[in-house]
Amino acid sequence: MLLATLAKMLIKLTAPTPDERPLEPQCAIGGRLNAPVPVSPWPSPATVQLNANVGGSQGRQMSPYTRQMISLSDAFEDVARVLPGYEVRQPQLDMARAVERGFAERIAVVAEAGTGTGKSFSALVPAILSGKRVVISTATIALQEQYLYKDIPLLQKALPVRFEARLVKGRSHYVSKRRWSESLLAPGITWLREWYEQTESGDLADLPTSPPSEIWDDIRSDKDDCLREKCPHFDSCFYFESRRSLGQAQILITNHALLLIDRASHGQILPDFDLLVIDEAHQFAEYATRALTLTLSNFGMGRTLSRIKKQFPNLGIALARAEAEANAFFEVLLTEAHQTRRYNLDPAMADDLSAAVVRLLQSLKELNLGSEDNLETNVARMRRDRLVETLTGYEGNLRVLAEPGENWVNWVEYQTTRGGGTNVALNCTPLDVAPPLGQWFSHPDGPTAVWMSATLSTAGADPFDFFRRQVGLPAGTAEERIFASPFDYPSQGLLYLPTHLPDPNDASYANAIAAEIEKLVNFSEGRAFVLFTSLQQMKQVYALLEAKLLWPAQHQEQMPKRRLVEWFRTVKNPVLFATASFWEGVSVEGPQLSLVVIDRIPFQSPGDIVYDARCELLSRTSGDRWAWFDRLALPYAQLRLKQGAGRLVRTRTDKGIVAILDPRMHRKAYGKTILKSLPPMQVSRRFDPRLFRAFIDPAGTGVSVEDDELWVQDFGLGI
Ligand code: SF4
Repeated sequence: MLLATLAKMLIKLTAPTPDERPLEPQCAIGGRLNAPVPVSPWPSPATVQLNANVGGSQGRQMSPYTRQMISLSDAFEDVARVLPGYEVRQPQLDMARAVERGFAERIAVVAEAGTGTGKSFSALVPAILSGKRVVISTATIALQEQYLYKDIPLLQKALPVRFEARLVKGRSHYVSKRRWSESLLAPGITWLREWYEQTESGDLADLPTSPPSEIWDDIRSDKDDCLREKCPHFDSCFYFESRRSLGQAQILITNHALLLIDRASHGQILPDFDLLVIDEAHQFAEYATRALTLTLSNFGMGRTLSRIKKQFPNLGIALARAEAEANAFFEVLLTEAHQTRRYNLDPAMADDLSAAVVRLLQSLKELNLGSEDNLETNVARMRRDRLVETLTGYEGNLRVLAEPGENWVNWVEYQTTRGGGTNVALNCTPLDVAPPLGQWFSHPDGPTAVWMSATLSTAGADPFDFFRRQVGLPAGTAEERIFASPFDYPSQGLLYLPTHLPDPNDASYANAIAAEIEKLVNFSEGRAFVLFTSLQQMKQVYALLEAKLLWPAQHQEQMPKRRLVEWFRTVKNPVLFATASFWEGVSVEGPQLSLVVIDRIPFQSPGDIVYDARCELLSRTSGDRWAWFDRLALPYAQLRLKQGAGRLVRTRTDKGIVAILDPRMHRKAYGKTILKSLPPMQVSRRFDPRLFRAFIDPAGTGVSVEDDELWVQDFGLGI
């Protein structure tokens, strides 16, 4: 049933002009799928290859590199020669061997590599020595930067092998020469014009300052406004130049969103490649969910209709009717959005808008634009073709939104804009992305994939079951390994699980944990991350403590993430209150971070529509009313908690305490399961200053609370 619905939606999978930039504000491959695909709903990896129209002349270039007959041990010795203080670590070498074997035997590898393993080298070294083209995909820019500016230059220096690496960026990062020449505003800005006149890359990242978004939107490369081969600038186009240069590189670095679009579009972004490394793989299914969510918004549709009005003003009646129907449609949606976010679209409402869209589409197709082969006519034809594609996509999306099927959930969202307007969108999200991911990334004819992360496994007999089910990897087809962290967790980290606090759902919980947090950060003299599962709880506890804390404190809404991390690294004895985005991807080494407090077990919140629908589906299809908990909620919480706790120990010399304030960690059976999935730290269930002092050295501020006093306080609470 799921595949049938996916097929219905993907009947519209685009072949001609996929792009990394969604048509709608929300990321959606689904929202842009609008041209027929034969047979399979998902492109088979065997058929995925570079479309020469997109990459220009590079076509299906194979890697110019050859397999290097260098052993992994020798290669790592080479690394040790150029990297001061580096020692070859056994888990790192073991992982590199597993990756090398996987590449050679075309077997997928699932590798959980604990913090400090050095997994990027474990994947890069065998990838380089393979002589094949490798795509490395990450979730975050920070990790891309680590590969590009740290790991790869080092390996280029260390290994006796020549290889090139490139970062694959989306189209919208490049200026379009034709759109620049037609822009009325941009060339008038002196610094922008000076940059444009001397840039060799046309890449937004090379600009000293980011231009205002409305200016950049006017001049950036845009697939909906690109003439391709018909463009007078095609041969020197920055975007197409960047695509052509990819064919020369052995290592391509990209992100999960672009990789997914590449697979969904029959390989129109990346050159042909043999091997794939998916780093930060624990986030991949979430990216796929976002990418495959189909979206219809007043913002996107309004923009399309405005374009039609501007570019083809003589479509009078058909255009006016489409505008009126769209306004009525989104009006109703907005009214509903105030009441509920999960939403079943009335098919009659979808039909009304669909009929207006089809009529406009017909009028657009019937426009006589002449047959001349000059720039003006070519531009008009190209614009018409793109608009026809977009309207066809809307029509198809409306059909899916009206009848989403049981494996999808429709939900509506709205947002007030700065100008006082309202953006409202209807989304349709797949509840299971494993089928398409399995076809794209685990097909025997596709590239061999290495899935890796510090957090992939859960406690239990089959530690990778949850991960495999998420990404559609069939059981028994991959080599699955856990490579232990080289850190000595029992002596570097203490896990504090207090037993005296009330249940998190108790009304007194916020006050109780605020008192506990105050005690802990006084003991650690700041130097603490206090991580919450909800923004509301974070604000409540912060408000309770703000005036009492002896240490500089900030919460995540007080400045952007990068600045906040910088603030934490540079201020003395800081305390940071934060939620989701600080549970992973943030690394503070040394005693500056000595305490990580976690407010509760991070179960996903029941208010999340997609999560709720997934839970319902799991329990319904399995016939087990607890399936949602065992197969989704519990494994998710384990991985999340592992990420949060993992903020503490980042190097061999780091020490400190992780405090999980949720008493369910010891009162409930699942708490014991969760405990097994955490790094093997020493556990304390009571506040014992003498023991705690073994893990946190005094900061020397002279204002810390007396240890003995804390002991008495704690004892008095009935531990
Ligand atoms: S080929 Fe497309 S992106 Fe490049 S300059 Fe021409 S219109 Fe712009």
